[in-house]
Amino acid sequence: QIVYLNGAFMPIEEARIPVLDRGFIFGDGVYELIPVYSRHPFRLQEHLRRLSTSLSSLRIPNLYDSAAWSRHVEELVKRNEAEDQSIYIQVTRGPAPRDHAFPAHVEPTVFMMSNPLITPPASLVESGAVAISSQDIRWDHCDIKAISLLPNVLLRQMAVDEGAVETILFRDGMLTEGAASNIFAVDKGVILAPPKDQHMLPGITYDVILELAESEGIPVDIGYFPEARIRSADELWMTSSTKEILPIVRLDNTPIANGLPGPIFKRMYKAYQLYKNHIMRS
Ligand code: PMP
Repeated sequence: QIVYLNGAFMPIEEARIPVLDRGFIFGDGVYELIPVYSRHPFRLQEHLRRLSTSLSSLRIPNLYDSAAWSRHVEELVKRNEAEDQSIYIQVTRGPAPRDHAFPAHVEPTVFMMSNPLITPPASLVESGAVAISSQDIRWDHCDIKAISLLPNVLLRQMAVDEGAVETILFRDGMLTEGAASNIFAVDKGVILAPPKDQHMLPGITYDVILELAESEGIPVDIGYFPEARIRSADELWMTSSTKEILPIVRLDNTPIANGLPGPIFKRMYKAYQLYKNHIMRS
């Protein structure tokens, strides 16, 4: 496994970070995760734009322009074995004596690694996944892809402890997103999606879903949806770069509608796979 650290490629065993790195001490940094299909990074420019936005939100300088980022990502893909990879990028404010306030002089730490991309098996896509729900206990800047993920870690572990795939979050009684995914519902043929505000991460997959819904002619309603409306929806899905689009058929031990993946999910799943293949060929 070859990784990238501060300008150089090396085996992961050789990559070293100073213990005073603010990523380690404060969780002071941001990340991205880019899926790679048949060695083609998926929606690379969109991921790099979100990275740039996350960095400026935390006032961490972006050391590379998108051309340089693209070159580094492509080089990393080349140096790793799998055809399908997930590229993890992490940028922290860098190493400095421990003090909450920003250090005067500090160089950001830039780390990238590649892992084999594991998407959900066909059997799970066909049967649908199980989810639980929780109050959204996170902060008011969930739109920043920050590495300080403690609430998300605890919320996702709650799901794992219950044998579920995801924890769906409600803030003030309204759907926000999942612990590590965006959530969509379907009600009477209309796709329901929460708006991209400060209480959810603007998913790259979320945007793909909205584009595909438009080209499929499926209406979308973007708004704040109360818990009861989500629980009584006809369909529920989660989306992310690694889960792609996955149907949720049980929420807190209660079936969603008839407890089977719905017809609109099936259309969107097909559209997503076709879109992926089309992008890979172009
Ligand atoms: N929300 C959260 C909290 C996430 O961590 C993620 C990514 N794992 C997403 C949504 C989905 O974003 P994307 O489609 O860009 O992977």
